[in-house]
Amino acid sequence: MDAGPRAQQLIVLGAGVMGSSITTTAVGHGIPVLLVDVDEEILGQARNRIAQQLRHAQLLSALPQERRPGELQTSTSVGSAMGTTAVIEAVTEDFSLKHKLLAGVSEAVPPGTPLITNTSGIPIDELADGLPRPEDLVGTHFMNPAYLIKMVEVVRGPRTAQATMTAVEELLTALDRQAVLVQDSPGFVTSRLLHPMINDAARIVGQGIATAEAVDTLMQGCLGHPTGPLRTADLIGLDNLVDSLAALYERTGEERFRPCQFLLEKVERQQLGRKSGQGFYEYGEVLS
Ligand code: NAD
Repeated sequence: MDAGPRAQQLIVLGAGVMGSSITTTAVGHGIPVLLVDVDEEILGQARNRIAQQLRHAQLLSALPQERRPGELQTSTSVGSAMGTTAVIEAVTEDFSLKHKLLAGVSEAVPPGTPLITNTSGIPIDELADGLPRPEDLVGTHFMNPAYLIKMVEVVRGPRTAQATMTAVEELLTALDRQAVLVQDSPGFVTSRLLHPMINDAARIVGQGIATAEAVDTLMQGCLGHPTGPLRTADLIGLDNLVDSLAALYERTGEERFRPCQFLLEKVERQQLGRKSGQGFYEYGEVLS
C-alpha cells in the first residue's frame, strides 16, 4: 500500500526577511517549523511578521484555506532537532556564517536530511566544502515574499545526492511551489540577472539622471517589469543586496557586480528599504 507523502517538519535558520517569509509559507501549508535566530527580540518581531503575512496570504487566497496552520516554535538554538525532515538556511549572506551554521546543524540532524540554503549567490559547492556530508546540501532560492511567489530556483551542486534532490522535490510539492532546476555557479540565474540590473538602476539615480520613481515607471511602462527594479530593491533589503553583489563580485571579478557607491551610502545611512522604513522610497510602516 502507498504510504503517501511523508509528514514534513522543518528547521528554518534565520528569522529575517526570507526566514520569516519561508516560515509563513510552510506554516500556512500545515507544516510545523522551528525558527531559529540569535535573540528573542528578533524572534518576537518575526512571530508578529509571520502572523501578519499569514493574514495577508489568506486574504489573497495564496495559502490553502482549509488547512490548519503548522505549529510555529521559535528558539535561539536548534536543540535536539528530533523529527526534522529538512533544514532551510536563510541567514545573512555571509559565507563563513552560513558555512559554520550548516556544519553545526548537520551534526544535529540524521544523515540524509536535506540542508537547503537560500543563498542568493554563493555557489553550493563552495558551501558544501568541508561539511560532514556535502551530498545533503542543495540550493533552493525562494523569492520574496515566498508565500506569494510560487516559482523557486533550485540549484544542484556537483556533489548533491539524488536522494537530496528527491527529498527537496517532495518538500516543494508539499509547499505547492514550482521548481526550476539550474546548475551551480555564482548568482545562479536570477541573482546574476537581477542584481546587476538593480545596481545599474541605483547608479542612474546616484548620477542624477533620473529619480527612482522615473526609473521604476519606465521599467514598468516600457519594459513590463512588474514593480520596477528599485521597488524590488527596497523589498529585498539594500543591505542584503550589497552583500549579495559583493559575494558575486568577489567570485567573478566582474565590475557590474561591484556594489555602486550610491547603494553603499544608503546602507551606511541605514536606509535599507522596507525593513527600515526608508530606501529608495519612504514607507509609513517599518516591516518588523
Ligand atoms: P535578513 O538580514 O533580513 O535576515 C538574516 C537573519 O539571519 C537575521 O535575522 C539575523 O539575525 C540572522 N542570523 C545571523 N546570524 C545568525 C545565526 N548565527 N543564527 C541564526 N540566525 C542568524 O536577510 P534576508 O534578506 O532574510 O536574507 C537571508 C538569505 O536569503 C541571504 O542569504 C539572502 O541572500 C537570501 N535571499 C534574500 C532575498 C530577499 O529578497 N531578501 C531573496 C532571496 C534570497
